[in-house]
Amino acid sequence: MNDRSDSHQLTTFIPTSRAEMTARGWTELDVLFVSGDAYVDHPSFGIPLLARWLESLGYRVGIVAQPDWRCADDFLVMGRPRLCVAISSGAMDSMVNHYTAARKKRRDDAYTPGGQSGARPNRAVIAYTAAVRGAFKGLPVIIGGIEASLRRLAHYDYWSDQVRRSILVDSKADLLVYGMGEQALEAVVRRLAGGEPVTGLTDIRGTAYLTNSAPADAEVLPAFSALENDVTVYAQAFAQAEQVGEKTLVQPHGKRFVVVNPPTPPMKEGVLDALYQLPFARRPHFSYQQPIPAFEQIRWSVTSHRGCQGGCAFCAIARHQGRRVQSRSEESVVAEVKQLQRDPEFRGTISDVGGPTANMYGIEVHEDRRCRECSRTSCLVPTICRNLNVRTSRGAQLLKQVRQVEGVKHVFVASGVRYDLLEQQKDYLNALLEHHVGGLLKVAPEALSDRLLAVMRKPPAALFGRFVETFRADNRRRGKRRGIVPYLMAGHPGSTLEDMIDTALFLRRFNLRVEQVQEFTPTPGTLATCMYHTGIDPFSGDAVEVCHSERQRRWQKALLLYHLPASRKPILEALHFCGRDHDAATLLGGGKPPAPEGKGRTGRPAEAASRRRRTAGRRGVPGRR
Ligand code: SF4
Repeated sequence: MNDRSDSHQLTTFIPTSRAEMTARGWTELDVLFVSGDAYVDHPSFGIPLLARWLESLGYRVGIVAQPDWRCADDFLVMGRPRLCVAISSGAMDSMVNHYTAARKKRRDDAYTPGGQSGARPNRAVIAYTAAVRGAFKGLPVIIGGIEASLRRLAHYDYWSDQVRRSILVDSKADLLVYGMGEQALEAVVRRLAGGEPVTGLTDIRGTAYLTNSAPADAEVLPAFSALENDVTVYAQAFAQAEQVGEKTLVQPHGKRFVVVNPPTPPMKEGVLDALYQLPFARRPHFSYQQPIPAFEQIRWSVTSHRGCQGGCAFCAIARHQGRRVQSRSEESVVAEVKQLQRDPEFRGTISDVGGPTANMYGIEVHEDRRCRECSRTSCLVPTICRNLNVRTSRGAQLLKQVRQVEGVKHVFVASGVRYDLLEQQKDYLNALLEHHVGGLLKVAPEALSDRLLAVMRKPPAALFGRFVETFRADNRRRGKRRGIVPYLMAGHPGSTLEDMIDTALFLRRFNLRVEQVQEFTPTPGTLATCMYHTGIDPFSGDAVEVCHSERQRRWQKALLLYHLPASRKPILEALHFCGRDHDAATLLGGGKPPAPEGKGRTGRPAEAASRRRRTAGRRGVPGRR
């Protein structure tokens, strides 16, 4: 690890201590950031990205990472900042970070040194805000990050099994920055520096605030009191908030109003490039003695874009980043790869070039105006919107340029790919199959029953089947032994045993095996969570079946893992329960399940080593899915 005595290091990172402030000649900060994650100075982590951004604009910023929230000491280390404190729970909602889908406490935390849990509080934004209020009386407190962003309106909270008020009300923060916060936070800090009181900052895009009087021209949502105990009103409010386009939203909370201003416009390519070219140290702060798992996952990967047009019902990351894809220039991405290549520990492998969905890089819209007025929740489902220029070859060109960087031996695409888009992106598909797939290609159809896929806002199962056939034909042509590992989800709203049986039969028919089943977790603010809470699809008004039975969730999981001997008994029970005993022979075959794809002479999946190399499993990695 790094040596604290190295004075150069004191100015390499954003200050976290008095000594680092002094090394820069600072006696006071302008903005203090508080984060629930350990401090990794890398553009994949939100707080360091924002801190570097403000630093580049001339502000003196510091970071307090994973402070003890039970007393003021950690918050006071660098003194009272001049303008404000900006608070985030970190890259994940703290409750998602702390608990499994079964509400059991997790023992690990990928964003903490040594991967140990317990370094941040439950409901971190609320706890940190209370601590900061106690430490710095009267100082403006701005909250942001995924926890604040997705809880900005009244929302269902799975862990308390109740509808909670906007986090602005519960935290008592002055202002909330939602989405990717660079533009909004820059405006907030600039205006505070100009002498405006925080109560006057009511017109900044990408922010929300609490007020005693609602703006006249806003779209008024049902009040918290109206939707708190009425699932129909809750579903209506969700749909209304999603479909208003770029209008100001108001939601009454008692005698006050939560006001959510329209989102910030997409960032221009040049601005995004500038952001990623800031002087990141690209490693954890020198004070840490143990590795940080989330950093190890993304260390040799490059983010090419942000945003996702998919609108998958369960996805929180895409909702946080927004539906407009914002891409960096090819030059900027290549410059970052060259920077990685100069790292003495670089071994020649770029583990990922991507974003929330890898093959959305470079996809632009034909008419901006149509998007601003759009009420669709997905740009790709049920059909790919004609306003999208999906046939771009920029993604393929980018991969080619990255491959050509001297010293780069392998470039993988570990971020998810959308196979509905790939059908119109032949260049990207060819590049992917020829150069960027190791032994196993991981794809995330999430389910393989069309009824359920429609609820999830995912493409039909037949498209996945076509993709599998294309992939296998390519294997035969190239004489390769690569396999596909589908990622599937159990317990999603609308997921019935019938859907899971159909999904298992699909897997069997295509001789596919799932490595791990993800259990649906109702994370705050998503469409799927709305359906979980209300049992209603808020856009169609149709009833959605929600599986609350532990036994049936177990059966759903077993069906997806049909190839495991331990699944046999629960599968037979599930088939009998559904009156589909006749499917047992097809599904279980009466004998051994089919051999997995890509199986080599050793009995282990071919190129299993590449799976270990491709450490970026993407789940829980900042900015990826
Ligand atoms: S107009 Fe098309 S591309 Fe634009 S937001 Fe709507 S669905 Fe997406």
